[in-house]
Amino acid sequence: MLVHSKRLWLLASIFLFVGVFSSPTLNFQYHRYDDLSQYLHDVAAAYPNMTSLYSIGETLRRHKLWVLEMSTAPDSTLGIPSVKLIANIHGNEAAGREVLLHLIQFFVTNYSCSETVRWLLDNTRIHILPSLNPDGFEVSVEGKCEVGPGRENARLVDLNRSFPDYFQNNTKPRQYETQAIQDWLTNNTFVLSASLHGGALVANYPYENFMENTDMTQPYPPSVSPDDDVFRHLATVYASTHPTMHLGYPCNNMDREFQGGIINGAAWYPLIGGMQDYNYIFHGCVEITLEISCCKYPLARELPALWDENREALLKYIYQVHQGVRGVVRDNTTHQPIRTAGLKIEGRDSYFRTTSRGEFWRILLPGTYHLQVHAAGYEPQTIKFIVSPKKQKEHITTTWLDVNMPPVVRQATVVSDQVLLLTNLPEEAPMQHSTTTQKMVGVTNGQKLSPTPFINVTATSMDLVKLSNTLDAESHDRREQLPFMETAESGGTIQTNMKHMFVVLSVNFVSVLCMYLHECTKMC
Ligand SMILES: [Zn+2]
Repeated sequence: MLVHSKRLWLLASIFLFVGVFSSPTLNFQYHRYDDLSQYLHDVAAAYPNMTSLYSIGETLRRHKLWVLEMSTAPDSTLGIPSVKLIANIHGNEAAGREVLLHLIQFFVTNYSCSETVRWLLDNTRIHILPSLNPDGFEVSVEGKCEVGPGRENARLVDLNRSFPDYFQNNTKPRQYETQAIQDWLTNNTFVLSASLHGGALVANYPYENFMENTDMTQPYPPSVSPDDDVFRHLATVYASTHPTMHLGYPCNNMDREFQGGIINGAAWYPLIGGMQDYNYIFHGCVEITLEISCCKYPLARELPALWDENREALLKYIYQVHQGVRGVVRDNTTHQPIRTAGLKIEGRDSYFRTTSRGEFWRILLPGTYHLQVHAAGYEPQTIKFIVSPKKQKEHITTTWLDVNMPPVVRQATVVSDQVLLLTNLPEEAPMQHSTTTQKMVGVTNGQKLSPTPFINVTATSMDLVKLSNTLDAESHDRREQLPFMETAESGGTIQTNMKHMFVVLSVNFVSVLCMYLHECTKMC
């Protein structure tokens, strides 16, 4: 036994020895695209159990958008939240790009000697995209503190103005880089995010745009989001940990002071098509913008100080993903996870959804909340919970909720003795303002379903919910319940499953549709 232990110790020592001497070095200098790529590949090769490298897309100049994921949590562990950090969306704002490379170096070289690093990597998946605009960076100029070449991408488009915008129609065409971010967010669930910029010293949070009819006389009012308390907290955590950001000093005479080193984005200057509003509104990911240096592209000799100023702030910021609520949504009979269930904290008009494994997360400050959960084919649930201000050791705790959803027994309602219109709710959760396609899958004559062609009706899911609510109020007295699954089996014409929830639309709406549908008109 003793011999066996000695062998293990020897193997571990050799592994550590090889790891230390094969770990890549990182100097305080700017890394052009090839050097940055090489460094990330070297890290991924040296720390295969801690990191993985992937690309989310390619730019016009064929530069890959590299992301290094760092985590030691097993893939099978449920509830591990994902954080992403992005720099260099403006190619000439270069300090954040190097700061994130040093953050990578810090994590991979301190796992065995820093409890903070170990805890974060054991309990978090951290995705780092050091440069979202490598094409712009390649033409930008070191030492250029104000406006200079390289802010935009190779098509001369400002990437932080080219995302879909909820408040106003953004006519700017999608860029490779913005599309890559959109796909990344669609295929992954990120809970917390930050985008690092330069040219000011402030933490800026959503919203960064207003409704079109807002009075735009200066000073601009804040454009307040439903999670304003959370955003202000996150921005304050960063600014107050940074040695000077919290002082709120402007970088030049043209700018304003920032109380506490934070500011609402729209109150500073409103913009259309920004990335942080897009993250929050379209994907439920909480992102803020960190302006970390007065000079957009400071000289390389300033990089050690910049790294020192931002290291603790970044670590504390990542920690915030562990405050709030998380859990798993499951079918209460099969215990299978429910994917893309829609979730909402009561009183906060912002939505998020479960992963393919039924997981969900939401950053919340201490307090008492109600979680509302909706899933196609299940009875909606509302669950009261408390986010405790208490911490375990030095680590922030999260409230864990197991949400068990009872399947809906009756899935359709007859609204007249002649017509039943069935509409699939979208596969996706009812995210705010998403547009989806509903399908009319059948009409019924009395109790018997008859086949009908599929008809696509485009509507927002919010519209659908409103319509459904209206119908519930208006037609309560004259409708009767129809056990849909039984009818579908007897009719044999509708292919569906329990995850589809069916919503009955009003007879008036059916009549309008019938005017356009030959099949339907015959039956009406
Ligand atoms: Zn910027």
